[in-house]
Amino acid sequence: MAQNGTTENGLPQNLIPPPLPQPCKISEIKHTKIFINNEWHSSLKGKTFPTFNPATGVKICEIEEADKADVDKAVDAAKAAGKRGSTWRRMDVSSRGRLLHKLADLLERDRCLLATMETMDTGKPFLQSFFVDLDGSIKTLRYYAGWADKIHGKTMPVDDNFMCFTKHEPVGVCGAIIPWNFPLLMFMWKIAPALCCGNTVVIKPAEQTPLTALYTGALIKEAGFPPGVVNIVPGFGPTAGAAIAGHMGIDKVAFTGSTEVGQLIKEAAAKSNLKRVTLELGGKNPCIVFADADLPLAVQEAQKGAFYNQGQCCTAASRVFVEECVYDEFVRLSIASAKQITAGDPMDPCTSHGPQIDQQQFDMILELVESGKREGARLECGGYALQDKALFIQPAVFSDVIDHMRLAKEEVFGPVQCIMKFKNQEEVIERANSTHYGLAAAVFTRSVERAMRVSSALEAGTVWVNCYNALHAQAPFGGYKMSGNGRELGEYALAEYSEVKAITIKLNDQLTV
Ligand code: NAP
Ligand code: MG
Repeated sequence: MAQNGTTENGLPQNLIPPPLPQPCKISEIKHTKIFINNEWHSSLKGKTFPTFNPATGVKICEIEEADKADVDKAVDAAKAAGKRGSTWRRMDVSSRGRLLHKLADLLERDRCLLATMETMDTGKPFLQSFFVDLDGSIKTLRYYAGWADKIHGKTMPVDDNFMCFTKHEPVGVCGAIIPWNFPLLMFMWKIAPALCCGNTVVIKPAEQTPLTALYTGALIKEAGFPPGVVNIVPGFGPTAGAAIAGHMGIDKVAFTGSTEVGQLIKEAAAKSNLKRVTLELGGKNPCIVFADADLPLAVQEAQKGAFYNQGQCCTAASRVFVEECVYDEFVRLSIASAKQITAGDPMDPCTSHGPQIDQQQFDMILELVESGKREGARLECGGYALQDKALFIQPAVFSDVIDHMRLAKEEVFGPVQCIMKFKNQEEVIERANSTHYGLAAAVFTRSVERAMRVSSALEAGTVWVNCYNALHAQAPFGGYKMSGNGRELGEYALAEYSEVKAITIKLNDQLTV
């Protein structure tokens, strides 16, 4: 998702000096196998699965499919790599940081190739991959590289007869299961804090988008991480994913994806070894525009929130509440802005809107658009499939959306903006909070007083004021309520990847002087 300093199209705010970066030519995908112990392995069952380019529908390549037995092999490698006395456990902590920096250097070196591959596999516009996804990935690695030698315990004052202090130790083998909407970025959000705390990792990329994860495997080896520290198991959720969630040898699992699967992960963790679980799930995020806001700014940011990455963001601004006296003007400006978006070839650096990830998501979005029309919301523009381009949907603006409609309650995960009217502050806070979700929210106002009061009242892990999707590696990210458990990014994520050990030493009275 868009990390700091980007416009509505996900491009850097300060103008990009010409020439624009161009995608690379990729003649062959070299890394298509399971990555264990810094080596490439075939699937033990001998199975493969295809990955497609959603912009063309063309198969890119076949990938070796990991199943339970392959996950077992990866867990064994991760366990051996992290055991007492191993190279990784004995490594000076600053060197762990240096390895993360080295990986970031390699991402910078191969930025164009990784961005091209990401666009090929996801359909997201190339410049967004190049600037936003790669920037966010590199910054996440560098941020946690800096933490590696700064993870301190504390000394607790007890009484003169004891010395009591804490040490932060790795949790052990960390499993990770990630989605298809930000494949490389989510990979880094998971591995960077895990590695900086000294853990080892077994990670499953989404079945639709395995390419950049596997390429990163090669970079992890090149950077010099010891074998087994990071293991990558491409495959499907109900097989490889479930094997991670229920594995007795995995000590923690971090999951990003839908709330329904999040519930399965927690259940599997509870029924196996009570492994720690952190979840980053869905959202139905309110974006509140008060009459005193800078209206053109609010229109632009709310639309960025709704349409960025073709609307396939857990943070999508999917309920835009607008104060009644500026409502008509806001709707008018939003329609004009949405009509300017033209979908196109995501490899073209001028394209800002690409295809949805696959047929299932595409069908689900159009079905929700139909439900909105049926339930009486007003479809102002877009919301239809583009004739000559499979999986492309023209961004939709709905006005007169009412809280009980499916559009106002369900996650759309597509380019559909829902605009709703409100009368006053108390009412909008109530309505904004009346959802099981609580991932993100935004407030647009020129009043500092109002910004403070409303941001405090909103039940969400992140609140943006006069901006949207402003994510930084330094700031914690995660959800209230059914949007998740725990936090990723920032200093807060370190606690999710560390065990705290209290050591208490009895001092010998005889030696007291
Ligand atoms: P998903 O179906 O929940 O899949 C996410 C990941 O979980 C994929 O790797 C998937 O494997 C795996 N998975 C599926 N079933 C599983 C099972 N039974 N056990 C273990 N793993 C399993 O979600 P999605 O359709 O890919 O992504 C869209 C959803 O993710 C949306 O609801 C969105 O809100 C949410 N999301 C949240 C965030 C956040 O940070 N909060 C970020 C992005 C997306 P496959 O490869 O087989 O699909
Ligand atoms: Mg693909």
